[in-house]
Amino acid sequence: MTLADDLRHASPTVPFSFEVYPPRTAASTTALHATLARLAEAGPRFISVTYGAGGSSGGRSLEVLRHLRAHTGVEPLAHLTCVGNTYAGAAALIREFLDAGIRSFLALRGDPPAGAREGDPFLGDLESAAQLVQLIDRVQAERAAYAEAGIRGLPGAARVVPGQRVEIAVAAFPHGHPRSRHPRQHIDALLAKQAAGATFAITQLFFHADDYLAFVDRCRAAGVRIPILPGIMPVTSPARLARVLQLTGHEVPAELSIALQIEPDPHRQRAIGVEYAARLAAEVVAGGAPGVHLYAFNSHETVLAVLREAGIPTAIRNTQKETTR
Ligand code: FAD
Repeated sequence: MTLADDLRHASPTVPFSFEVYPPRTAASTTALHATLARLAEAGPRFISVTYGAGGSSGGRSLEVLRHLRAHTGVEPLAHLTCVGNTYAGAAALIREFLDAGIRSFLALRGDPPAGAREGDPFLGDLESAAQLVQLIDRVQAERAAYAEAGIRGLPGAARVVPGQRVEIAVAAFPHGHPRSRHPRQHIDALLAKQAAGATFAITQLFFHADDYLAFVDRCRAAGVRIPILPGIMPVTSPARLARVLQLTGHEVPAELSIALQIEPDPHRQRAIGVEYAARLAAEVVAGGAPGVHLYAFNSHETVLAVLREAGIPTAIRNTQKETTR
């Protein structure tokens, strides 16, 4: 079953997934490998690995994806950006990931460098994520249009079947995209990505279940049919509050922000963030979300605590359960 099929079909368990970023040092690489092992034990549907805008090779991101393939049974999902790249460069990048065995992508435009404006030539050949979706689809079709499958009852015989299609996720923005010029532009962009071949979407983070649920309703009314997976970030420290603002341009809800800032104990701060994210996860799932995608910040304790507090079962046996510290 593909990732998108899995998200489409109601199941007694709630699919969940995690996002990590490539480590910068040898020490953080070792730590991330330990984290990935713990995350994998929980049985996520996939683990996604972010990719720096403007990159021309898989680099550190691909190293993490390769590690996931080699050392865990979890599907690795590669974020890919196209900003600043040529058409040929982006095609070469996609081939590099396909050659490494990667079959699931999150196709992103990426943010232009500070000060760049739409139309600046150095923004690259591909103007939007929808064009990257099309390119991934075209590059994969070049190489795996057909495959061979056995025929039951005829040992040694084979028939030609369509090759396995790659999974292409895209970004969606419950609060709109900061660069949108009109209120519907981000939904039009999502429709374009769906038309280009996207198989599911993952949202930018948000802090109220209604923001996600109303966004999904607007998308459905506009004709978006692909599953829309809610992206949830546990905000567990004042430093992370600042990061949210930087990522999204949106303020964190006042009650969460104040609670984190008046609480001096980092362990209590973490518990506050976990509780908020767990409530949000439980509410979106109750509202019909096809699963939850959690930003793990390269650490397993917090996201596993969120799943546990949200009542979302994982493959970790009771005796192994994480403690909220
Ligand atoms: P697009 O779908 O191309 O466009 C996004 C919006 O920009 C559209 O809604 C539209 O309103 C507007 N827009 C698009 N084209 C035009 C145009 N020609 N003129 C004017 N407006 C236009 N970034 C990274 O660098 N690395 C990552 O790993 C990464 N991971 C992410 C994961 C998730 C789940 C999300 C939600 C975002 C992630 N981002 C990442 C950030 C993302 O690259 C930025 O938000 C980027 O600005 C938009 O990317 P997109 O794929 O949505 O672009």
